[in-house]
Amino acid sequence: RYSTAVLAEEPITPPVQVNYTKLLINGEFVDSTSGKTFPTLDPRTGEVIAHVAEGDAEDIDRAVVAARKAFDEGPWPKMTAYERSRILLRFADLVEKHSDELAALETWDNGKPHEQAAKAEVPMFARLFHYYAGWADKIHGLTVPADGNYHHQTLHEPIGVAGQIIPWNFPLLMFAWKVGPALATGNTIVLKSAEQTPLTALYAAKLLHEAGLPPGVLNVVSGYGPTAGAALASHMDVDKLAFTGSTNTGKIVLELAAKSNLKPVTLELGGKSPFIVCEDADVDKAVELAHFALFFNQGQCCCAGSRTFVHEKIYDEFLEKAKARAARRTVGDPFKKGIEQGPQIDSEQFDKILRYIRSGIESNATLECGGERLGSKGYFIQPTVFSNVQDDMLIAQDEIFGPVQSILKFKDLKEVVSRANQTRYGLAAGVFTQNIDTANTLSRALRVGTVWINCFDVFDAAIPFGGYKMSGQGREKGIYSLNNYLQVKAVVTPLKNTAW
Ligand code: NAD
Repeated sequence: RYSTAVLAEEPITPPVQVNYTKLLINGEFVDSTSGKTFPTLDPRTGEVIAHVAEGDAEDIDRAVVAARKAFDEGPWPKMTAYERSRILLRFADLVEKHSDELAALETWDNGKPHEQAAKAEVPMFARLFHYYAGWADKIHGLTVPADGNYHHQTLHEPIGVAGQIIPWNFPLLMFAWKVGPALATGNTIVLKSAEQTPLTALYAAKLLHEAGLPPGVLNVVSGYGPTAGAALASHMDVDKLAFTGSTNTGKIVLELAAKSNLKPVTLELGGKSPFIVCEDADVDKAVELAHFALFFNQGQCCCAGSRTFVHEKIYDEFLEKAKARAARRTVGDPFKKGIEQGPQIDSEQFDKILRYIRSGIESNATLECGGERLGSKGYFIQPTVFSNVQDDMLIAQDEIFGPVQSILKFKDLKEVVSRANQTRYGLAAGVFTQNIDTANTLSRALRVGTVWINCFDVFDAAIPFGGYKMSGQGREKGIYSLNNYLQVKAVVTPLKNTAW
């Protein structure tokens, strides 16, 4: 159970070296102005992987100056869209060429299973840049037959310098969701990576420069939120802010943006997504999918199916099987083959998850399995299942962001829709049913940005993602993300010689 033997072994040596630890400003790797560094830790052991330059307000300012110059003086916005597209395509090809290093760095810094990083995240990362490279030369305005003797046209222009703040749970994908559309539309960028996972953003940015990105177009500043992040959100010369992270921090950056220069903000925030298993479901398949929906990525997904609603008719059978599945989950060194679950990201998240587990027990949910730390070093947690969970319990309300499944019982569809919607969040939902009417009814009734019917966590570069309510503002990916990075200008010209 839980592969504890694997945890007793020495950690596997990652098949990669850390070559880039400085800030990337104006096309060059530089030290921070203060000279300070911070350690990035291996979640398997808590030991230091590398010391990384710690950017703060002064470095953000240097990066914004570089991005502004690259935007105002070019060559980036003045290049043809086709040339920009070619650079993005070359970059995506370089990502494929260096996929081993990228996947290994991602696993080392984040703790996610290497197979997942190599087979899912790095290919999706490259795919996203292929997708947005395709958009670069297809962005254009309209000619509008408005009233009067005028030529009316709209120009779709880049918004300017984009500030982007990303979290640690999918460092590469969050980089791609932000950087891809911003570059395709001709903007320049200052990106602040998460302090827990600074390594792959620096590596990817290096590859982008190798692909021909001019200096200053993408600047990467590693550092902490209240210093570097806040400086970016409140900078007077940043024209747009894109943020992914917790709802609380989302409120802070929105306020900073409003109090500074009213830059428009897109937010991808937290969630407490329902996964609804209807009475007609094939129980074995539903158990497997509900398990994946919650435990994938150590439970550290903003859209995790963290409220498993099960119809009362199949509840007992589902519970037994869900418990057995969680107990079979292989936890261990994420570099080892066949491992499904690695460590949580850091001690803070680890302690928070264990506090929520205690809260579940204290509020009289039934702990079916797991509930404790695994091993004696690093941040491993047993796959945990609670049954008998009630809507008002903290574990059913708050985002736990860990391997803790909460199972709730329901009687009918109307009831489950109302309970599923009774949350401050609205990011995603899963529905498991063989009945097309049930699927259609639920997908319209649920107030969320994504509904997965008989599937979960299916992501495609072309499909939008984002939240209702306190899960965010705006959409990323697909055609929808382009507008986040564009200004629309109306140009009106009198038509003189209409007699011709
Ligand atoms: P977080 O909000 O603490 O940090 C996210 C980013 O914001 C980091 O780069 C951090 O340094 C920065 N930050 C922190 N304080 C800041 C401040 N005062 N000003 C500016 N920036 C600041 O979140 P986290 O714990 O790193 O990430 C987990 C959270 O992110 C979860 O709640 C999860 O649901 C959410 N998330 C959402 C999505 C989505 O697409 N909706 C995706 C991934 C993660």
